[in-house]
Amino acid sequence: MKKKRTTERYTLADLENWREAARAVDPLIRLGVFGDPVAHSLSPQMQNAALGACEIDMQYGRFHIRANELRSALPFLRELDFIGVNLTVPHKIAAFAQIDEADESANRAGAVNAISLRDKKLIGSNTDGEGFLRAIRAEFSVDLRDLRVLIVGAGGGTGQAIAWQCALENCERLVLVNRTLEKAQALAERLRPLFAGPRVLGPAARLEAVPWDEAALRAQLADVDLIVNATPLGMNSSDPTPIPARLLAPHHMVFDVVYGPTKTSFLRAADEAGARGANGFSMLLHQGALSFSFWFDRDAPIEAMRKALL
Ligand code: NAP
Repeated sequence: MKKKRTTERYTLADLENWREAARAVDPLIRLGVFGDPVAHSLSPQMQNAALGACEIDMQYGRFHIRANELRSALPFLRELDFIGVNLTVPHKIAAFAQIDEADESANRAGAVNAISLRDKKLIGSNTDGEGFLRAIRAEFSVDLRDLRVLIVGAGGGTGQAIAWQCALENCERLVLVNRTLEKAQALAERLRPLFAGPRVLGPAARLEAVPWDEAALRAQLADVDLIVNATPLGMNSSDPTPIPARLLAPHHMVFDVVYGPTKTSFLRAADEAGARGANGFSMLLHQGALSFSFWFDRDAPIEAMRKALL
């Protein structure tokens, strides 16, 4: 029979009738990404390139699963002989409560972006934090431990993983900003023990959660090197920038976890201010490579994955 490469987007209804929905697909889909929205995700093209490069005879599919459908969708992975899945917006935090076991990275972040099926158990991991660390190194040739970092969207699944990574790296300073301030404050309390060390800096506190308003941001940004957008703002070209150009300065490094469109509103603001900027492609690549290693316990073919994203 002629092989059929998947380009389709599947739904919960398809998972419920999987034998029928995937009847003509060859090789079988045994990996995928769950999200809403998910049409924009480049994970399928990147992971299918990795599977091809390693001659692993299966495919990685795209699943449009809404927030209220995750609880119904996850158990199908056990029955349908999946290797695992990635989770994207809005599932990372909700999934943490729906898995059987979490590894250290997922426990720390309280969020899961990769699940592996082992003995029919859902094992959760989080590769966003480490993927972010590698991306910052690749994009700006600096290490997190040398940076003062401000994260917008620190209360989301991705923001929490990034914040933990910054704390583990003992970054110089960490400022947490979130639309719902209480989530950033709660995260700051959990991270506080990691900032108790004797690093001597200026008068600015090493760890703070601050409201998302212009006055608070302006005060913080004078003592910050790296600004991270961990919200979905920028996925639509009409989205406003999370931080306006007038608050940015040429010394800032601006990192947007959003990778489509290539030049987000935040990166346009960085350009306007003369600041260096990078989008989320590099993080996508590294968190994807780490997910591949989590599923298959082997190094990922990173150059094949990078090439698939170009
Ligand atoms: P999430 O768990 O749903 O969190 C969303 C975060 O953004 C929350 O902090 C939320 O604030 C905030 N937010 C949402 N809409 C907002 C708005 N209109 N204005 C201000 N804040 C808003 O989502 P996630 O899974 O972390 O994903 C966030 C983004 O990261 C997505 O665009 C995803 O594609 C991207 N991402 C990229 C990579 C990569 O490899 N490049 C990896 C992971 C994620 P509240 O707490 O107030 O709701």
